[in-house]
Amino acid sequence: MKQEIDLRSDTVTRPTPGMRAAMQEARVGDDVYEEDPSINALQDKLAQMFGLEAGLFCPSGTMSNQIGIKALTQAQDEVICYEGAHIYKYEGGGLFFISGVSVQLLPGNRGRLEASQIDRYIQPDNVHYPRTRVVALENTVNRAGGAVYSLADIAPIAALCQERGLKMHLDGARIFNALQATGEAATEYGAHFDTISVCLSKGLGCPVGSVLLGRAETIRYAKRIRKALGGGMRQAGFLAAAGLYALAHHIERLAEDHRRARIIGEDLAACAFVEEILPVETNIVISGWPPRSFSKVGAILP
Ligand SMILES: *Cc1c(COP(=O)(O)O)cnc(C)c1O
Repeated sequence: MKQEIDLRSDTVTRPTPGMRAAMQEARVGDDVYEEDPSINALQDKLAQMFGLEAGLFCPSGTMSNQIGIKALTQAQDEVICYEGAHIYKYEGGGLFFISGVSVQLLPGNRGRLEASQIDRYIQPDNVHYPRTRVVALENTVNRAGGAVYSLADIAPIAALCQERGLKMHLDGARIFNALQATGEAATEYGAHFDTISVCLSKGLGCPVGSVLLGRAETIRYAKRIRKALGGGMRQAGFLAAAGLYALAHHIERLAEDHRRARIIGEDLAACAFVEEILPVETNIVISGWPPRSFSKVGAILP
């Protein structure tokens, strides 16, 4: 019998029976009053995992990214990021709409920026220019086919930012994929970044949810911004319970996603109709096909 598997995105994952049971049993309270035990537990757990002081549960990764940037900038500042960065390209112009900042877009090496490249684009102190304030990285890099930064790639960028007085934001929508691929420890990340957005609704299988991590003072301000954006929720602990379940049960199996993605990549690369394929490092496979070749997909995915 033919079985259909939807491979469009890791966002189409659905909660497992175990996750649904955890949600059903969640202890909840009013999170705007900070009284939801499941949300508090999730925020604390992730903050501890990533070596930062506090966390803020958000309805989406777009919101946690945008709150992170807003918390680190003022209008007229500039953010340096990859030209295909989610914060710039896929968040509805939120950087300009919410933070009033401009961007300096860099091509990177398959989306990964390097300190020497960033250094050339830090604006001089001159009224003509916006003030460079934040370097935003994405790990893994979605548009570059899930390319991975290692901590060794990040450390020189963090050192440059430290030296030049710049803040660092991480769009960690797929940070657990990166950690799975490198085998590195999450706790190291807190030393490099001022804010980290972590998504639970991608490969971890949660229906909803992202968490912004940072120092306590940053997250206090971030909570104010979240309220203004309408992201302060009440008994959202049902969603946090899904997140806690995912952290306990779904991280290790990301390796399985990576293994399968690699096989799909190899099979696609062997297909005559595939014009181009990006290296497959994690769970994303990006390939270029000529128009009207979709009917052939059944041949490679029996
Ligand atoms: C999916 C994604 C986000 C967040 O998206 P939401 O759909 O708003 O949760 C942020 N960054 C990257 C790189 C993503 O792929």
